Amino acid sequence: MTDKIVLKLGDVMLKGRNKKRIMDAFVHHISEVLDTEAMTLERHHDRCYIHLNSVAPQSLINKLHTISGLHSYAFVKTTTRDLASIMTTIVSLIDEINKPGKTFKVSTKRNDKSFPINSMTLSSTIGEKLLAMYPSWQVNVKNPDVTIHIEIRKSGIDIYLNKIPLMGGFPVGMLGTGLLLMSGGLDSPVAGYLSMKQGIALEIMHFESTPMTSIEAAQKVIELTKKIALYAPKQKILLHMVPFEKLHQALINNIPEEYVITIMRRMMLRIASRYAMQQHIPVLITGESVGQVASQTLESIHVINAVTSMPIIRPLATMDKNDIIEIAKVIDTYDTSIQPFDDCCSVYVPKSPTIKPRNMYANRYERLFDFQQLIDYAMKETHTISVSSDLTITLNTLGLTVQTALKGED
Ligand code: ATP
Ligand code: MG
Repeated sequence: MTDKIVLKLGDVMLKGRNKKRIMDAFVHHISEVLDTEAMTLERHHDRCYIHLNSVAPQSLINKLHTISGLHSYAFVKTTTRDLASIMTTIVSLIDEINKPGKTFKVSTKRNDKSFPINSMTLSSTIGEKLLAMYPSWQVNVKNPDVTIHIEIRKSGIDIYLNKIPLMGGFPVGMLGTGLLLMSGGLDSPVAGYLSMKQGIALEIMHFESTPMTSIEAAQKVIELTKKIALYAPKQKILLHMVPFEKLHQALINNIPEEYVITIMRRMMLRIASRYAMQQHIPVLITGESVGQVASQTLESIHVINAVTSMPIIRPLATMDKNDIIEIAKVIDTYDTSIQPFDDCCSVYVPKSPTIKPRNMYANRYERLFDFQQLIDYAMKETHTISVSSDLTITLNTLGLTVQTALKGED
């Protein structure tokens, strides 16, 4: 029987004065996600214990994988402070795993120095006993299959086998909030997930060009937001749907074809920056990855970035596409992202978008029409939805359904 689960935070996080702040943020987030009435959370300076009471471990473990800032967990058994009980407990834990032919090491921490046997001696005594009991096992201190952790405390002895890795990073929200520009593509949901993993809560902005683009493309963005809301504070994310069609049409009608995408991106950044500044959100986040498409050459990034003074975090900037796909599969956004619905960037794609745009031309073309007025309109008509993983909403006609959803928002 499992007595409790130990949750470990990363070592880097636990240095100096930040320690208490990180632990506070972590405990706050964990109690948002877990049903803390059905279990007890015991806080220590560098770790937490969960006493399970009546909760089924598997449902808890699935949730642990959505909590950023947690680096690992292990099932712990607590026993009395004598050698015989320590051995019995270790053997019962080993009985739960597949025994034959393992390499192992024993790692002892003597937190209570009044315990009469020191760590080294206890580790080797236990090691010898195990070798006698399991003749096919071998010691390997560098890279063992099984590590037997023994922690000696005043109140008893904690014993657990391998620590199982979790998300890592920092507790989501600890670093504040960023505004993620999210398309329906593969990259931006991954960029959002990686930002949350690193402690940044999200608001999401999507530019939708219905009816020029399909309603399914907009619906996709809601589905993707639902998936990554699992990792968010309170497992909810605000999604801002910006009506982009009028501005999009104006770009197609007024701007030389090879500059449409460059200037479209600049418009998105203008709107996102303005909203972020109004809301005191200090950074924007995008799924840009250098080299992937014409709008992501270094020259394009330079010209697109020139319209904002806000810092832009690009978690995928230098990542390989296959690595991005791997993460999309882990967070279960892959299948939704690859559904073939055109969004504003894939509908009417120019035959040869410029890969070396210049600021001078972009500025000149933007003077060909009154974009400020169209930006004002898009911002005024933006709909905001509070999205959680269990939200059910179908965008038959965007405005109507979203309005209904808004009424139910808390
Ligand atoms: P993604 O897979 O995220 O769509 P991508 O590799 O297809 O990225 P682009 O289409 O060039 O790249 O978009 C670059 C970034 O611009 C996106 O990652 C996203 O942050 C932002 N973006 C593009 N289109 C939209 C949109 N319709 N709404 C919000 N943000 C967008
Ligand atoms: Mg895209």
